[in-house]
Amino acid sequence: MFRKILIANRGEIACRVAATCRRLGIRTVAVYSDADADARHVAFCDEAVHIGGAAARDSYLRADHIIEVARATGAQAIHPGYGFLSENEGFAEACAAAGLVFIGPPASAIRAMGSKSAAKQLMETAAVPLVPGYHGEDQDPALLRREADRIGYPVLLKASAGGGGKGMRVVEAPEAFEAALASVKREALASFGDERVLVEKYLTRPRHIEIQVFADSQGHCVYLFERDCSVQRRHQKVLEEAPAPGMSEERRRAMGEAAVAAARAVGYVGAGTVEFIANQDGSFYFMEMNTRLQVEHPVTEMITGQDLVEWQLRVAAGEPLPLAQEQLRIDGHALEARIYAENPDKQFLPSTGTLRYLRTPAAVQFMRGGAVDGNPHGPAGVRIDAGVREGDTISPYYDPMIAKLIVWGRDRDEALARMRQALAAYQVVGLSTNVAFLQRLVACEAFAQADLDTGLIERNRAVLFPPAAPVGMEAIALAVAALQAREATERRVDEADPHSPWVRAGAWRLNGRARRELRLAKADGTILEVALVEQGGRATLFFADQAAPFAAACAAADVRVDLGTRRVHGQVHADGERFHLFHDGRHDVLTLLDPLAHAGEGEGEGGKLTAPMPGKVIAVLVEAGASVVRGTPLLVMEAMKMEHTISAPVDGTVGELLYAVGDQVSEGAQLLTFAGRA
Ligand code: ADP
Repeated sequence: MFRKILIANRGEIACRVAATCRRLGIRTVAVYSDADADARHVAFCDEAVHIGGAAARDSYLRADHIIEVARATGAQAIHPGYGFLSENEGFAEACAAAGLVFIGPPASAIRAMGSKSAAKQLMETAAVPLVPGYHGEDQDPALLRREADRIGYPVLLKASAGGGGKGMRVVEAPEAFEAALASVKREALASFGDERVLVEKYLTRPRHIEIQVFADSQGHCVYLFERDCSVQRRHQKVLEEAPAPGMSEERRRAMGEAAVAAARAVGYVGAGTVEFIANQDGSFYFMEMNTRLQVEHPVTEMITGQDLVEWQLRVAAGEPLPLAQEQLRIDGHALEARIYAENPDKQFLPSTGTLRYLRTPAAVQFMRGGAVDGNPHGPAGVRIDAGVREGDTISPYYDPMIAKLIVWGRDRDEALARMRQALAAYQVVGLSTNVAFLQRLVACEAFAQADLDTGLIERNRAVLFPPAAPVGMEAIALAVAALQAREATERRVDEADPHSPWVRAGAWRLNGRARRELRLAKADGTILEVALVEQGGRATLFFADQAAPFAAACAAADVRVDLGTRRVHGQVHADGERFHLFHDGRHDVLTLLDPLAHAGEGEGEGGKLTAPMPGKVIAVLVEAGASVVRGTPLLVMEAMKMEHTISAPVDGTVGELLYAVGDQVSEGAQLLTFAGRA
């Protein structure tokens, strides 16, 4: 076995590989870019070497430089993770030439599977079933068109060199063929430098089922069963699971054996994934082979109890596969959700920024191959593979994945229940995430019933993108409690028990009767009126048409409130005047409006609103033309690490918005125009 390896990757997969190395007593060398100087993988590995600029081509894609670093640090092998150099045959060859072991398949296997067309030709000879289609060398447009007509519409045009869901177009009818061909070629040339395409029958309601294979250099090859990755958005995987629901033993064996045949056909060694597209009737066809470890490999680990990175290391070191086919078993069911920094309400646009507050469900960080404290699936069957911690940033340079959340259950229903619970406990402040979207996705009827196909998300748009739910009394109570606790700490009034972690929240107590009114704004600008009345040491909270006795206590982010006899637990993270409320699996954001605020030194009755200091616009809360009341938050600026909410000085109408989110503004700059109502 190796004594030391270099991990040519970053983020969660670099940490994942390092975790197994640590367990096996193998030293690890991390490499990092300018943007990753403080990244988790750098701290997690035994050594770390800076390799260049933030852009991947200046760092993680610098094959020669990475090889030099491996030699200089005495690493014996390089693990490429996924992405970056993992499927680069030239890199695999260069490693060998430098006397380093590339922890992956032989360069010849990468090359054979690198082109979708060439791979299909190979598979045809190995008798692996293929989607009806054309994958020949001749790229004459007239010929491609004839082939499409022969196959029958709809057809799918794919870039031969494509990957990551790019370079694909569905053609519904012959009239649309030419335009689609031109656009796929353009995209293929721009993204992959190769404009060749193939034509395939487009399957309606297909499932994506892939087989994990493993081969060693002694000629053994096994399959570690299947993963169902049908839940996709624009051909990108969102949820993955193993085993595939509804899979019969017979079909599992047929697909497994076809995948092994595919691997053998290219002289495969190491971990690989053979992707199939399956019809609802169970018939399946080869799509492509990925010659590396997949993002979703943990679901296979959870059901087989095997550590696939350990298998990779053993095979690369020349050892035989740890287990034979007959020794592999499926135990239970596993699900994986990819938690991304992105905004589902804005076409899933990536979100960048700092993870200011991060709380995750109780979980193990990576499975330690086999039993973890007597439990092969970690406490409560929850595992998190993450490359970031609280305080880290998600930069625009790399994939905006925050973590992979993986759960295990004895059956699919148990796994699903755990996934719901774990997602409800995932709390992130600082950037937009897809957590709430994932919660709705795993809760939706189609997914719960395992009615899977690649169109599941599109078909269920109505339930997956619902209008914002109203804010409840519980969230309001948590916000009021957190505000009281903050004010109490500021005034240091709570000296009764200086050692208690719980700050008594009753800071507004006065003799006699006191009433405090608060105005809270929702993200969409709606204003909520709240009142807290204290009398004789008892408080009552009023909101909308409700009233409830109120008592609260806070310990850091943990807040508990008694609304009469009902106890409410939650977490509150205050970011300036913005309160992030986590309760019962929900994340509500309310901004406290200062009743005395005079909107950014606004100009009284109307005119302009200006920046009180130099800073950056971080949120625009209204649209041009919006009619608002005095105190409505209009825009949020960040300056000197603090947030400043610019609010409407009087009732009126928003005119023109002069800055957008992300814009830098100088002191005194006019932010928007505003006309007051008389
Ligand atoms: P990439 O290499 O870009 O990931 P794939 O060939 O693996 O491309 O296809 C990605 C996804 O596109 C599949 O998981 C599936 O959802 C969809 N897809 C691919 N081929 C077909 C087809 N013939 N019919 C319907 N959907 C397809």
